[in-house]
Amino acid sequence: MEGKRVNDPFTTAKTSKNDNNCSVGTPVCVLGPIIIGSGPSGLAAAACLKAKGVPSLILEKENCIASLWQLKTYDRLRLHLPKQFCELPLRPFPADFPNYPTKQQFISYLERYARHFELDPVFGRTVVSAEFDSGYGFWRVRTVGGGQPEAIAEYLCLWVIVATGENAVEVLPNIEGMVEFEGPIVHTSGYKTGECFSGKKVLVVGCGNSGMEVCLDLCTYDAQPSLVVRDSVHVLPQEMLGRSTFGLSMWLLKWLPVRMVDRFLLLMSRMMIGDTARFGLTRPDLGPIELKNTTGKTPVLDIGTLEQIKSGKIKVWPGIKRLKSHSVEFVDGRIQDFDAIILATGYKSNVPSWLKLENCRIRLSSATNVSGTLQRT
Ligand SMILES: Cc1cc2nc3c(=O)[nH]c(=O)nc-3n(C[C@H](O)[C@H](O)[C@H](O)COP(=O)(O)OP(=O)(O)OC[C@H]3O[C@@H](n4cnc5c(N)ncnc54)[C@H](O)[C@@H]3O)c2cc1C
Repeated sequence: MEGKRVNDPFTTAKTSKNDNNCSVGTPVCVLGPIIIGSGPSGLAAAACLKAKGVPSLILEKENCIASLWQLKTYDRLRLHLPKQFCELPLRPFPADFPNYPTKQQFISYLERYARHFELDPVFGRTVVSAEFDSGYGFWRVRTVGGGQPEAIAEYLCLWVIVATGENAVEVLPNIEGMVEFEGPIVHTSGYKTGECFSGKKVLVVGCGNSGMEVCLDLCTYDAQPSLVVRDSVHVLPQEMLGRSTFGLSMWLLKWLPVRMVDRFLLLMSRMMIGDTARFGLTRPDLGPIELKNTTGKTPVLDIGTLEQIKSGKIKVWPGIKRLKSHSVEFVDGRIQDFDAIILATGYKSNVPSWLKLENCRIRLSSATNVSGTLQRT
């Protein structure tokens, strides 16, 4: 690699202009893989490589590690899963952490993890393309940022590890009348606390884990939350028989087929939280684990929102037909005034926009870790 670095024509290339007339600096040859993203998956990959003596370079678009957790999550967030399912390899959580660590505890754990393994991501580098150059047998990874917005930096390497997560881009629905609505419309990535919504009628769109938890947070701050539940959803208690529902399910799956575990989960849920359809939360035909396996849709682990729905503090509405200046018309024809709308409509990956696989002779394989999705080429 060192010999290549000295003799390779790439390294002697001068700054040139690309198709969009942006300047491309001298390519940087990287020994070992480039890891794109410094979330939990990227940090874990870099630490494991380092432990085997393999150097790597992490490129991160934001100016901090774990940007999803640091910049895009609400204050009251705790891990939804017990800590043993979310810790990174080679370094467990501190023993005094609670079973469900807070967001701040998780972030401090990740920061200590990065310090311990001396991981030093290059911040402010957004990968805009990663393409395999079959002529030279290298990956060309291009980034923008780093203080010069129009300058493109190019990195060359033999391996690329994609660790940009499933939550890179906010999904924003296109609802009729959105421009007419005069109150704020905020995605959950921009929601920190319900403090500024005190006394306000707030409509939360989307009933995944985030939507349900934001509703609960709004209750804490004396707002009047409503929840749009357009599709069917599985709501399960966070714990069953004194164990986490997730942990119990994983344990049962070692012995029983998915459908039997699903039946068990639904029976327990029925006994513990009753028939959720009575409150507007109808269950899908497939069981929770089968649904997750086939569609990727995660069941909601209830941490108290259901009680607020049962008590009437949180109102459940069907899908939205259109927005008006101060109100919302629902698909069943009802119209209700609202002061603000929070979109708990989730995220999607940004990988298809920059990972070019046309010239790639290497087959893409993927590995999933418990705390997210780690894909490697
Ligand atoms: C509200 C919420 C609660 C959650 N709770 C849990 C939980 O309890 N347990 C659990 O296991 N999971 C949970 N998750 C899922 C979460 O996705 C994972 O915890 C974890 O963050 C995934 O790690 P990751 O490294 O794969 O992706 P991310 O954490 O999303 O990290 C990806 C990194 O890549 C960077 N990046 C993205 N695009 C580019 C680019 N083009 N160039 C350079 N850098 C880029 C991003 O800035 C980011 O830092 C939760 C998610 C949310 C939104």
